[in-house]
Amino acid sequence: MKLDAKLIRYLSSEDYRVLTATEMGSRNHEVVPTALIGHIASLKHGGTEKYLSHLAKHNLVARTINARYDGYRLTYGGYDYLALKTMSRRGSVTSVGNQIGVGKESDIYIVANDEQEQRVLKIHRLGRISFRTIKSKRDYLQNRKTGSWQYMARLAAMKEFAFMKVLHENGFPVPTPFDCNRHCIVMSLIDAFPLCQIREVDNPGRLYSKLMDLIVRLACAGLIHGDFNEFNILVGEDGEPVLIDFPQMVSTSHRNAEMYFNRDVDCIRTFFRRRFDYESSIYPKFSRDAEREFSLDVQVAASGFTRKHQQELEQSDDDNEDQEVDADDAVDYSNLSQAKVTFKKGAIEMDNGDGFPSDEIMKLNSSVESLSMNPDES
Ligand code: ADP
Ligand code: MG
Repeated sequence: MKLDAKLIRYLSSEDYRVLTATEMGSRNHEVVPTALIGHIASLKHGGTEKYLSHLAKHNLVARTINARYDGYRLTYGGYDYLALKTMSRRGSVTSVGNQIGVGKESDIYIVANDEQEQRVLKIHRLGRISFRTIKSKRDYLQNRKTGSWQYMARLAAMKEFAFMKVLHENGFPVPTPFDCNRHCIVMSLIDAFPLCQIREVDNPGRLYSKLMDLIVRLACAGLIHGDFNEFNILVGEDGEPVLIDFPQMVSTSHRNAEMYFNRDVDCIRTFFRRRFDYESSIYPKFSRDAEREFSLDVQVAASGFTRKHQQELEQSDDDNEDQEVDADDAVDYSNLSQAKVTFKKGAIEMDNGDGFPSDEIMKLNSSVESLSMNPDES
């Protein structure tokens, strides 16, 4: 999907008001009745339909004629627009450049702020592929049948931002998180190549142990990356790895923690064997009886990205298992020589400000009548 940043300049404030009204209405209606959009927008001089057709021409909304009524639904383009508009008002993104990545569930762009500082915009597209399955299987959507692709993509962004923030504040090598709105996050641009593109390294053993140390440091902090592979590890000129892509992170208390942990370790072992012909008998093993040193997973939960959110995301992976959490589980890092890392307790305090629209998500079930038009909503 192409991101049309130029539109931000061309839409009038009435267009924006009508688009925002469509977003609000779409929390309860997959197709928002035109009259309802008019009611929420309550434009001084009317003309909602004119603005809606203008928005539809630019693919920000799509007209849908349904058996019972005519209406519009918000498109991904419209949702992108709303997020970019909010982030540009905050000054975190003021121009959009090239697309540098397209994943199954995200689009990545180079962007910049007013100081011409280059950054990375990641737009979550969760639901682009799997929405149909989610919708058919999940009863949690029953009270919120509509807008669920927005909800899921937004949850994924919220989760990624919450984890990146906690990891960054605790000295883990991850991009600097700058902003989060709706399904988008803005982070620092890492000047490095993904490991998958690196054919040769001076000292594979050194990189290997840095990566294993990272897995262990995460686990000592209560976390497992869950997708620790050559695509999500960037390696700079200095040979230092930087970790990206956090929507699938799990707590070491997760009942499948051992499987996730071992999978991350095996990914690195296999990659090093194939690419660099490097094999080591030293690798970390997961065990449930060691003491955990610090609980970043608990800190993330305290940030507004709660266990309920986590469960909703996990369910979207077509994983039907119940998510039992056993708080006493932890990790054994004793197999790895230099792995011990201590964290300063109480160092993290997540602010529940701008980037965390958790209240709003809670409001998703409230009736449209109770939603008021707030042009500054974030
Ligand atoms: P996905 O969820 O689609 O896998 P990722 O977050 O892994 O998305 O990003 C996809 C690709 O975009 C990465 O493999 C990397 O090449 C590039 N990328 C993502 N974030 C950054 C960043 N902060 N700096 C530089 N490149 C990045
Ligand atoms: Mg990735």
